[in-house]
Amino acid sequence: MKLPEVTGSLTDLPGIGQRRAEALTRLGITAIRDLLLHPPRRYEDRSRVVTLVEAARHGEGLVDAVVVQHDSFFRGRERVLKIVIRDGSSTAALVCFGRSFLARTFPVGAHLLVWGQFSFRHGEIQTATFEAERLPGTDRSGAAPGRAADDYHRTPAPPLPGFVPVYPLTEGITQPILRTAIAAALDRTLPELEDDLPKHLRRAENLPRIDEALQGLHRPTSLEEAERARRRLVYAELFHFQLDLARTALARRRARHRPRSEPTRSVVEPVRRALPFTPTGDQERVLKEILADCHAPWPMARLLQGDVGSGKTLVALLAACAAIERGEQAALMVPTELLARQHAHSASRFLAPGDVRIALVLGNLTTGQKHAAAEAIAAGDVDLVVGTHALFSEDLEYNNLGFVIIDEQHRFGVRQRELLLERGTVPDVLMMSATPIPRSLALTAFGDTEISTIRELPPGRRPIKTHLARIGNEERVYEFVRQRLAEGRQAYLVYPAIEDGGARDLRSVQKMADELQPRLAPYQVGVVHSRLPEEERATVMDRFASGELAALIATSVVEVGVDVPNATVIVIEHAELFGLAALHQLRGRVGRGEQQSFCILVYQEPLTDDARERLRVLYQSTDGFHIAEEDLRIRGPGDMPGMQETVRQSGFLDFRFADIRRDMPVMIAAREAVRRTLEGEAERAADESDEDRNRHRARSRSGNTQEETR
Ligand code: ADP
Ligand code: MG
Repeated sequence: MKLPEVTGSLTDLPGIGQRRAEALTRLGITAIRDLLLHPPRRYEDRSRVVTLVEAARHGEGLVDAVVVQHDSFFRGRERVLKIVIRDGSSTAALVCFGRSFLARTFPVGAHLLVWGQFSFRHGEIQTATFEAERLPGTDRSGAAPGRAADDYHRTPAPPLPGFVPVYPLTEGITQPILRTAIAAALDRTLPELEDDLPKHLRRAENLPRIDEALQGLHRPTSLEEAERARRRLVYAELFHFQLDLARTALARRRARHRPRSEPTRSVVEPVRRALPFTPTGDQERVLKEILADCHAPWPMARLLQGDVGSGKTLVALLAACAAIERGEQAALMVPTELLARQHAHSASRFLAPGDVRIALVLGNLTTGQKHAAAEAIAAGDVDLVVGTHALFSEDLEYNNLGFVIIDEQHRFGVRQRELLLERGTVPDVLMMSATPIPRSLALTAFGDTEISTIRELPPGRRPIKTHLARIGNEERVYEFVRQRLAEGRQAYLVYPAIEDGGARDLRSVQKMADELQPRLAPYQVGVVHSRLPEEERATVMDRFASGELAALIATSVVEVGVDVPNATVIVIEHAELFGLAALHQLRGRVGRGEQQSFCILVYQEPLTDDARERLRVLYQSTDGFHIAEEDLRIRGPGDMPGMQETVRQSGFLDFRFADIRRDMPVMIAAREAVRRTLEGEAERAADESDEDRNRHRARSRSGNTQEETR
C-alpha cells in the first residue's frame, strides 16, 4: 500500500470521535493519511535530564527533582496549590491551577520526573505548564533542604521519552490527543507501507524509506533523524509536484497539434533592415528561442522576462512578424489603454516597412469604430491587433489568430489568460514580464512554461542613480527637479494615493498638485491618476510624451511600460508605502535614454523593518533579478506581485513540508530527477515498441510464435 492509498477513517483511532474528527478537518486532516503527514512544529527534547536552572534558562526541559514542600496562594477566590520541588541546582514551584488533587499524587518526599516550561517569575523558578510522573520506589523520605547536590544523581536513570513532537493544534485538540492518535496510526500503517519514491532515487539522494521517515518525523531518537526524515518528505513532495507539472505539460503538447504553414509574404526582413538600431545579443538569442517554438508541432507557451527597458517589445514584434509572414494574425494585449496606444504607436513605426496592417481595439471605442475594426479583423484585413483585454471580448472574431503576446503578464489574472487559450484553435502565446520571476517561482508556478530571459540592456544606458531623502528634506529634492527641468529634461513625481484618506498625514496627488504647480512654474505640470476619465488621461500622457508638459504628478498608474526617454528624474514620495516590485517598475520609467537619470525615494519615518529593508535593497541594486529574489525573501511567495492567483491555482502554498525559500536546492534536484525519470519512461516505451517490431519481424520471417522468439 502506498501513502495516497492509505484511507481508513479517523474515528477508527483511539481518542478520536466524531467531534474531534471534525475539529481535525480545521488542520486539513480528514483521513489517516493526513495525520501521518501532519508535521510537528518542533520537538521537545526529553531525551536527557537537565537541572532546574538550565530548564529555566532554556524555557523548557526535563528535570529530576524531589518534592520538598506544599504551598498555596489565592487567585481571586480560588486557592491554588504550589508544589515546591528541588534538585541539585535550585528549587522551583509547580503551580497547579485547578489541579489541587496533585497534592495527594505528589506528596512531600516524592521523587518526580517533570517536563515543563520553566521560567523565572516572582523571584523563583516556576512552571504552570508541566507534566510530572512519580518514579516509584525512589522517594527520599529525608528530602530536607540543605542536602548535598550530588545526592540527586544517585537515583537509577528512568527510561526517558526522547524527542516529543509538538504539533500545530486547533480548538478541541490537545497535544496528547494528537500524539496518541498519530502513534496509533503509525503502528497500524507502517508495516504495510510501500515507498512512493523510486528506489534508485532514494539511494542516489541518500534518503530514508517512507516508513523510516514517518517514524523519524513523529518519534525521532535524535534531531538529526528528524531532519533526515523531513528532508526525505520535502523531496518526495517536490518530486511529485514536479512530476505532475511535467506530465500536464506533456499531455498538453500531445493533445494539441498545431499545423505550421509556409511564409506567403516577406515581413521580417524589411522590418529588420529598417530598424533604427541593432538588436542586442540577448534580443537576438531570445528571438531565436521563440522562433524555434513557433516551428514545433505544438503551441508555444513561453514567458519572456527582462528588466524594464531591456527591449522586450521589439523582440515580441519581430516574432509576431514571423507569424504574419505565414498568413496568421497576431494580437498584443496590454493591461492599460495608455500602454495600448503607446504600443500601437511604436508598432506602426517599427513595422511599417513590412506593410503590417495594425488595428487598435480599446474598451471605450464608439460602437461605430469598434464595428469597423471588428469587420476588418474578421475579414483578415488586419495583421496585428493591439489592445486591452477588450481583445478577447465575445464579439471579436479573428480570421486566423496564430500568435498572441501578453505584455506585463502579471497584471492579468490566470483566468484571463486561460479564457484566451480556450478560444478555438490554440495560438502560440508569448507572455512578457518586467518583474523577473525568482528562479524558485519559475520552477513551480510556471513549471510548464518555457522561459526566455533578457539580461542585457541596450547599449548606451547609464545606471540610474538612486537617492534617499526623509520627508522634511524635500526642498532640495524639488530644487533638484527644477534644475533638471531647466536643462530641458522631464520628471515624474509619484504619490501612493489620489487623495489624503485622512487616516494619516499622507501626501496625495491632489494635495501635491496644488502645492507643486506654483513651485515648479513656469514649467507645465500635468496630473494623472486612475480616476480621471480615460480620454483625459490619454491627453495628459500625450502632452507629456510630446514634451509639452515638463512634469507629471501621478499615482502608480505610470508604473507599467510608459516610455518617455527624455524623462530623467522620478521622485517617489512615501516610498515606504510601495512594494519592492512597484518601486523597481516606477524607477524603470527613467533611464530609458542616454542621459544620466535619477530616482529619489522620499520616505516618512518611522519605517517598519520591512520598509527599511525594501528601501535598502532598492538603494543598493538596480538588478531586477536580484530585487525579485529579495522581494521573495522579505515577503514570501504568496505575496509576490501577480502571484497570488497563480500561487493559489498551483496549490503552491499548500506544500506540507517544503518551504520554497529554504528548500530551493531540493526543488532543483527534484526537477532534474523528474526530467530523468520521464526520459527513462520515454526510452523504455521506445524500447518496447522496438521489441514489438522486432518480434513482429521475426515472427513474420519464420512463422514462429511469439513465445519461441523470446
Ligand atoms: P521593455 O518593454 O522591455 O521595458 P521596451 O521594449 O519598451 O522595453 O524598450 C525600451 C526602449 O529601448 C524603447 O524605446 C525601444 O525602442 C528601445 N530599444 C529596444 N531595443 C533596443 C536596442 N537594441 N538598441 C537601442 N534601443 C533599443
Ligand atoms: Mg514593455
